Amino acid sequence: MTPIPSDASSYANTSAFVARHMVLDLTANFEQKTLAGSVELQFERREPGATELVLDTRDLMIQNAEAAIGAGAWIPTAFRLDTATPAFGSALRITMPPGADRARITYATSPQARGLQWLAPEQTAGRKHPFLFTQAQAIQARSFIPLQDLPGVRMTYSATLRVPKALVAVMAAEMTPGQAGTGTFTFKMPQPIPSYLIAIAVGDLTFKPMSARTGIWAEPATVDAAAREFEDTEQMIAATEALYGPYRWGRYDLLVLPPSFPFGGMENPRLTFATPTVIAGDKSLVSLVAHELAHSWSGNLVTNATWPDFWLNEGFTTYLERRIIEAVYGKARADMEAMIGVADLADSRSTLEIPRDRTLLPDMTGRDPDDAYSTVPYEQGALFLAFLEAKYGREAFDRFLRRWFDGHAFQSATTSTFLAFLKAELMDKKPGVVTDAQVQEWLNTEGVPSFAVLPQSDAFVKVEQARDAWVGGGAVDALAAATKAWSTQEWIHFVNALPRTLSPAQMRALDGRFGLTTSTNAEIAHVWFRLAIAARYQPAYAAMEDYMVRIGRRKLVVPLYRDLAATAEGKTRAARIFAKARDGYHPMTRSAVEEIVK
Ligand SMILES: [Zn+2]
Repeated sequence: MTPIPSDASSYANTSAFVARHMVLDLTANFEQKTLAGSVELQFERREPGATELVLDTRDLMIQNAEAAIGAGAWIPTAFRLDTATPAFGSALRITMPPGADRARITYATSPQARGLQWLAPEQTAGRKHPFLFTQAQAIQARSFIPLQDLPGVRMTYSATLRVPKALVAVMAAEMTPGQAGTGTFTFKMPQPIPSYLIAIAVGDLTFKPMSARTGIWAEPATVDAAAREFEDTEQMIAATEALYGPYRWGRYDLLVLPPSFPFGGMENPRLTFATPTVIAGDKSLVSLVAHELAHSWSGNLVTNATWPDFWLNEGFTTYLERRIIEAVYGKARADMEAMIGVADLADSRSTLEIPRDRTLLPDMTGRDPDDAYSTVPYEQGALFLAFLEAKYGREAFDRFLRRWFDGHAFQSATTSTFLAFLKAELMDKKPGVVTDAQVQEWLNTEGVPSFAVLPQSDAFVKVEQARDAWVGGGAVDALAAATKAWSTQEWIHFVNALPRTLSPAQMRALDGRFGLTTSTNAEIAHVWFRLAIAARYQPAYAAMEDYMVRIGRRKLVVPLYRDLAATAEGKTRAARIFAKARDGYHPMTRSAVEEIVK
């Protein structure tokens, strides 16, 4: 019996009870903005004498609790909710009779549930039907299900969702086909997953297949563009399987959400949730799909055991993402994306006030893990793995990673588990290549170690030459000739590499020639708006405001608020934009922006 690693962000008493299976039955009420129904949790009882079960909840209305022994009859049992804390919600304490190993809780969610976003019809692409989606990572599953909400516990589940007949419900699970129009949808998840991978969406959804095991769920207005944009998904799965072993989750579908989705993507198993802001028309932003797909190995298959181990999840995934991009779109593109990642890392680090948050091992004691969220675990983690690859050689490192995934499949792993594996499988077998001190520096330094092996890109050298020529007084026509065949990544690097002090005339010249203010590529628009704020380029502000109101993806809008808030005048503008955008934002984006404009 492996002990569950202690988890500061959960109240669950996992030394006594460990959830192994869940039966969920919920009804979605769009008028009241609630999910209501019941959850049954089946436990492995680890302490025969335990009389109390402790679960995580946040803002739930608990109606009753029952307990049972095996398949025996349900008996009502006593329960109470502790006082809530802002970081973790309330512990739900349920009395468990001797031998009881099942609990059933009848409950309803609050309209303010942090893991749910209820969208009015005007916030969707079709504008006719409302939409609901969940976002459980990191610790918001407890805001729509009372459960043991920690990544160290994995369970299988079955679920029934009851929704208005005009809508379709999907879950990140095996879906029973042919239920559209009935208002009742059933699912099962045969592989054990951590709670943060439970995911639900309800809306005017339709499905379009891309290959035998991949397809798109989206609103009818979006589905065709999404299927075109993501048509290389099957090729990405094949490339990842060749490197890291079989895809073990059955289907891999993508659900394209309305633009308020707070993340780029969420790697919900079998059904990645994705922002529509990566549909650029030219597949230039599909590294997001590579990333979420990679989580089917790093994260979903081998999970960070606690939230301070998050880099095991995101650092591995960012490294895998670049390998998939290299396999499908070539090394030049993977290198450019890695270099943009290094720049993002420096930018993100500079905004972090708590020193340990700038390292791979933040201290999360007493904090909601989302408050420590940054680019650091992603890009610093990926650089760490790229360093190991460079030191041991690609072939040996690929075999090492494959053994890591195979040997820890459907388990949750801690940083020390990984370090022991690294030592046994690489460091001890090839002594003197990488030192313990180097490994410790990767984990604990607040910057990029001096011995890191950084990505290089010839393409970006040319971009910088074009920038120097133009900034030095060259003609915009010459710049136009140089940029003719540029990809999205080259444009992003170019805009990021421009001096923040361009004159209004220079900004006008660029904008007039390249239409950057009206770019339909959300990433290019983002870096351009950041430059526009720095250079006080007023003609971009109206388009920027529309963008910030329309899009709720944290990575795209939060830096714009932060940049604006750097000046008093900008802060007033930021507050005005937020007043307009607030209601359309997901609770996570809302609280991140509130911190900045308050
Ligand atoms: Zn990720």
